[in-house]
Amino acid sequence: SKRTGKNQIKEFEDESKHQILRTVEIEKALAQALDRNEFSLVYQPKVSLTQNRLEGVEALLRWNNRELGHVSPTDFIPIAENTGLIHSIGSWVMRESCRAWVRWKKSGVKPFTLSVNVSPLQFAREDFVESLQAILDETGMDPMFLELEVTESSMLSYEASTREKLAQLHQFGILISLDDFGTGYSSFRQLRELPVQVLKIDRSFIVNLFTDRNQEAIVRSMIQLGHNLNMKVLMEGVETSDQLEWLLNEQCDYVQGYYFSRPLREKDVVKHVKSVTTY
Ligand code: C2E
Ligand code: CA
Ligand code: CA
Ligand code: CA
Repeated sequence: SKRTGKNQIKEFEDESKHQILRTVEIEKALAQALDRNEFSLVYQPKVSLTQNRLEGVEALLRWNNRELGHVSPTDFIPIAENTGLIHSIGSWVMRESCRAWVRWKKSGVKPFTLSVNVSPLQFAREDFVESLQAILDETGMDPMFLELEVTESSMLSYEASTREKLAQLHQFGILISLDDFGTGYSSFRQLRELPVQVLKIDRSFIVNLFTDRNQEAIVRSMIQLGHNLNMKVLMEGVETSDQLEWLLNEQCDYVQGYYFSRPLREKDVVKHVKSVTTY
């Protein structure tokens, strides 16, 4: 009826007003979050299916603000990108996670890879490689154990400068993985030319793996595509043993997800590594 229609419009207006207010609030609080020490990192294990062992961990950012509570990175990363705060936040993530890696190494566990998410805006900065180098020097992080997770949009403008940066990173021994694969617009041609070592298939592809018959064919093709391009393939968001079994059968190289582990605090990573010898 007309009445519900009107109510719906009102609801919608309230909703979007609420959204805008929240964005403004997040923006204000975010500008002070670094100074106020409100960020922390958690680390989610990546498991190698071919070698049946922990391959590494991915650093994931957490933000706890006194007024706003826990805010999800999917809510605040886009705001950090719009305001330019992503640069200082990104450097903080890189520095802190490298420090954690050095502490893990000192604790005597066999070193594993540290993966860090890099926003397209960070990657696009002219001094990206230089500032990364400075953090490696400062922290003592071994670049052979560092992996950068970049999205397709970082690579889209595949210009000379991007090519040069990737070549430099490659020289350091740094791995590059293509995050959220399947959600962007890479053409096959671009993909062929990208010097990335790992394709990370987005979680949205595994959610309906067994409910939609075509989905199996799609994910299978993505794995084969990666392999044909000499890349390793990682599936994120693995939650069930059925999914795992399917991925093993399809020769997927790495997996990540709640089935193995939720993201862990720094000290729990060492416990996890020591308690799990095989999966
Ligand atoms: P992402 O890089 O695709 O990370 C995977 C997300 O899926 C993480 O969410 C992780 O906690 C979640 N996840 C992992 N396994 C499972 C599972 O089995 N089931 C379900 N339902 N979820 C799972 P999170 O930590 O909320 O991060 C969301 C996104 O925020 C990340 O997506 C990434 O794009 C961004 N992000 C997080 N930390 C950083 C950072 O330090 N820098 C940048 N630039 N972006 C970050
Ligand atoms: Ca990621
Ligand atoms: Ca994803
Ligand atoms: Ca991502």
